Amino acid sequence: MTSLQHPDVNQPPGPADGGRSLKLLSVVAPVYNEVATIEQFYARVCSALQGIRFELVLVDDGSTDGSDRELQQLATNDPRVRVVQLSRNFGHQTALTAGLDHARGDAVVMLDADLQDPPELIPQMLDHWRAGCEVIYAVREQRAGESRFKLATARWFYALFDRLAQVELQHNAGDFRMLDRRALDALLSMRERNRFLRGMTVWVGYRQAAVPYMRDPRYAGETKYTLPKMLRFSLDAISSFSHRPLQLATLLGFLISTLAFIAIPVVVALRLAGSYLPGFGSVTIAVLLLGGIQLIALGIIGEYVGRIYDEVKGRPLYLVRSRVNIPAHEAPQQSLPPASRVPDRTL
Ligand code: UDP
Ligand code: MG
Repeated sequence: MTSLQHPDVNQPPGPADGGRSLKLLSVVAPVYNEVATIEQFYARVCSALQGIRFELVLVDDGSTDGSDRELQQLATNDPRVRVVQLSRNFGHQTALTAGLDHARGDAVVMLDADLQDPPELIPQMLDHWRAGCEVIYAVREQRAGESRFKLATARWFYALFDRLAQVELQHNAGDFRMLDRRALDALLSMRERNRFLRGMTVWVGYRQAAVPYMRDPRYAGETKYTLPKMLRFSLDAISSFSHRPLQLATLLGFLISTLAFIAIPVVVALRLAGSYLPGFGSVTIAVLLLGGIQLIALGIIGEYVGRIYDEVKGRPLYLVRSRVNIPAHEAPQQSLPPASRVPDRTL
């Protein structure tokens, strides 16, 4: 996919290059037990964004290793650093959402705090933004330092997602992406609980562009995505963008009923012909098979019902314990769809 070069007609042209002009860039990163990386991350962001007016929104997702003190220190020394401390660990996608809620920029970029996403790519993404793109995602050409297992499961996941889901996801594009304020407001008006942000940013549409990059290994520490978390994440992704698994149950039902209908005349014919039918084995197998399929179908329905239940409860997506360098009037109302942020609905 390539970017479209004509500038956004609804945006006033910037003075310099006929495109948008940037007043403030928000850099959003979630932090969960990254004490060994934070300082380096801050230094890399600052040196990559020299000459650009930016704010760095760091979300402490319930760290227990002293990352919060480190973040506090950074924010004390540099007013551009704004810290949102969540009341506990809410998970990567929710922490990112909290950061996006607090971002004030005309453009916002989200990236991991472990330096797997190089901040040096941001100026290149900004070029696309200036040219009029609303969603600019970084595509990993190479993923260094990740296990074979992780790479293989990621590949399977994308293949499955492609078959099932209704949005077209760019393979190997993670959450490292830049959004224009318009796309961001649209994204933030979607307050669903099972958040698969990389799918949601595609769903909002607008003009999208890809920037290739080499994904580095983690700077320090270990991945926070354990196997169960990854499985849950994949289930969330698929269920929030596809009803196919539910339809699969119906399909299986039809298939098995057809088999049964075919079996009826066969059994009658065999009886009339006087053939002896012991039956026990086949009946047991059929009962077990049908029971299994019914349970699987129930499980699939359960996955969706559970998610409906979560949505219906309407709990806030996250709770904030404290904010640093963020005055009270700039704090968003996180629990409700913020009325002022709902995008233009004139169409
Ligand atoms: N993270 C988070 N909350 C979590 C798990 C991870 O805020 O519950 C952050 C983590 O600090 C990092 C980013 O999300 O900045 C990506 O996590 P990680 O590097 O563990 O994922 P991976 O790159 O291995 O997929
Ligand atoms: Mg990582």
